[in-house]
Formats: sequence, C-alpha cells, structure tokens
Amino acid sequence: MNCENCGAPLNPVPGRDYLFCDHCGSFHFPIANRDGVRLLGESSNMVCPICREDLVSGTVDEVKLLTCNKCHGILVPSWNFYTIVRYLRAEYAEKDRPPRPLNKEELQRGISCPSCRQPMDTHPYYGPGNVVIDNCGRCGLVWLDFGELDRIISAAGRDRGSLL
Ligand SMILES: [Zn+2]
Ligand SMILES: [Zn+2]
Ligand SMILES: [Zn+2]
Repeated sequence: MNCENCGAPLNPVPGRDYLFCDHCGSFHFPIANRDGVRLLGESSNMVCPICREDLVSGTVDEVKLLTCNKCHGILVPSWNFYTIVRYLRAEYAEKDRPPRPLNKEELQRGISCPSCRQPMDTHPYYGPGNVVIDNCGRCGLVWLDFGELDRIISAAGRDRGSLL
C-alpha cells in the first residue's frame, strides 16, 4: 500500500493496526470491513485458496492475519482465531443477530491449504454462528470466508458483552 500524501510505500507500525510513511511522516489508518479486518497490505508467500490472489497482511483487533484483497477471506492461525473470537465476542456491544441456518452446500466445497497445499478439513464450526469453516490441522490454520467472522461474533451467547 502506498502513501496517499507522497506515494511512497507505507510500513505497518509493529503491533498496531495502522501504517506509517517513513518518507513524509504521515500515518494511514485502514478502515475495518464487516469482519473487522483492517488491511495492512504486506505481501506473503501464500495465495488465496478460492481465487489464487496473493494473500496480504491485515489485522482484526490488532491480531495479525492474512487476507485476500479480492474475496476478503481470512487465513489465521487457529490460536489467533480463538483469541479473536473470545475477545471480540466479549467486547461486542451490538444486539445479537438472529441465527441463520447452516448452509449445507458449503460442506461440499474442497479447498487446499495455502501453506502445505493439502486438502483442508471443511466442517461446521462448533462455536456460535452456524458457519462452515475450513482448517488445516498440520499447519494449524483456519480459513474463513468473508462475513463468517461477523456471524460468529454477532451470534447470541452468554459470553457476549461480558467485558462491558
Ligand atoms: Zn508519505
Ligand atoms: Zn480470494
Ligand atoms: Zn496446511
């Protein structure tokens, strides 16, 4: 990603969810999408399992992950996924959204792990939200399609809003 001010490449500020321009000294604050993902845009050596675009870095609540600029899917280490879900659900201040039924067709999809290229395990997520997730046990990675994290965070449950 380049600086809006001078066009020089922006660098993520370590441990933060915004970027800094070393050339002109300006900051850039990416806007979060529906899943809460802020794009940092550093390239990675992995490609999107759906559209084959290069995955780039992003954050959710300052936790780093990889995301696809095209389909907005998310690739996140399992441990970070659980951290994100736990904290965001505890922080969540909006009303519960009514649950949507699980889309069984999604269970038929087969995608490959962006890291080891082996088939990912596609299964219903056992937490809230009625979503289908893909994970690779070997690499400890979880793939979420756009909108799935939002559904997981906004589904009803006693753990929601517990930090308020
Ligand atoms: Zn600049
Ligand atoms: Zn994609
Ligand atoms: Zn893998």
